[in-house]
Amino acid sequence: MLFNKLLLSSRKLISSARNISYVPKNRLDGKVAIVTASTEGIGYGIAERLGLEGAKVVISSRKQKNVDAAIEKLKSQKIEATGLVCHVGNPQDRNKLFKETLDKFGGLNILVSNAAVNPTVGGVLDCEEQSWDKVFDINVKSAYMLAKDSLPHLRKNKGGKIVFISSIAGYQPFEALGVYSVSKTALIGLSRAAAVQLASENIQVNCVAPGIIKTKFSQVLTSNDGYGEETMSGIPMKRFGEVDDISGVVAFLVSNDANYITGEVIVPAGGMQSRL
Ligand code: NAP
Repeated sequence: MLFNKLLLSSRKLISSARNISYVPKNRLDGKVAIVTASTEGIGYGIAERLGLEGAKVVISSRKQKNVDAAIEKLKSQKIEATGLVCHVGNPQDRNKLFKETLDKFGGLNILVSNAAVNPTVGGVLDCEEQSWDKVFDINVKSAYMLAKDSLPHLRKNKGGKIVFISSIAGYQPFEALGVYSVSKTALIGLSRAAAVQLASENIQVNCVAPGIIKTKFSQVLTSNDGYGEETMSGIPMKRFGEVDDISGVVAFLVSNDANYITGEVIVPAGGMQSRL
């Protein structure tokens, strides 16, 4: 009882310190969530938010030291979490991810596929075949395989939620991120197609397409010595997004509040245009 009270008050403190207006404390109680590429940036923010809402979270990334640091941060907030190395492009690592989830938490309700790479800068038709393969392997194929491999576990629980993290670039291709943009459009298509196939099984599949969010990944787009000013000029709300602008949307989509939503894309992008 006392522990629960302390837990709730520590969660309250975090939400006010981070200026999150409202965190529903128990919305995800009893749920188990995998969030990939989750030791920093948007993935970490999502794992943290799901944990603060009561989910047990499984985090991962390519480097053990990053996993250890993220787990420590989550645990300091009394979030029930486990973590491991999982390069999403590696089938053995993906298997281990599901095994760890089942061993530690006994099942799976939520998959958030968040990993992406952009190994090349340039126009869509200037990309080498090797870079094209890498982008599609990590950004699209691994998301597809994770979703596919999560199905037996979601079905066991008679339903579940899958969220793919796309990008505003999937709608408005960035000139310098040509192939990356196409891969993010593909995720929107994957989400819609999978949603239709899984609709009758109570598995909802949705997509979140963030605008420009302040993380390491987007540093060159947001910094003043990079393209900060130019990028900002394309954002009607005239501010870059924060990780919290994305994590709350994902928390909603994986909660029971979104049980009748599937095949949709939510675009937290400060008003940037999002039409295909
Ligand atoms: P970030 O801050 O650079 O974080 C990347 C995270 O992914 C780290 O935890 C990294 O840890 C991990 N990671 C990288 N490659 C991985 C791989 N192959 N397998 C597993 N983990 C991997 O990136 P972010 O900005 O949060 O981006 C997250 C997602 O949001 C991406 O899908 C990105 O396309 C999307 N997005 C971002 C923005 C933006 O403006 N930031 C906008 C739209 C969409 P390790 O180094 O330890 O692997």
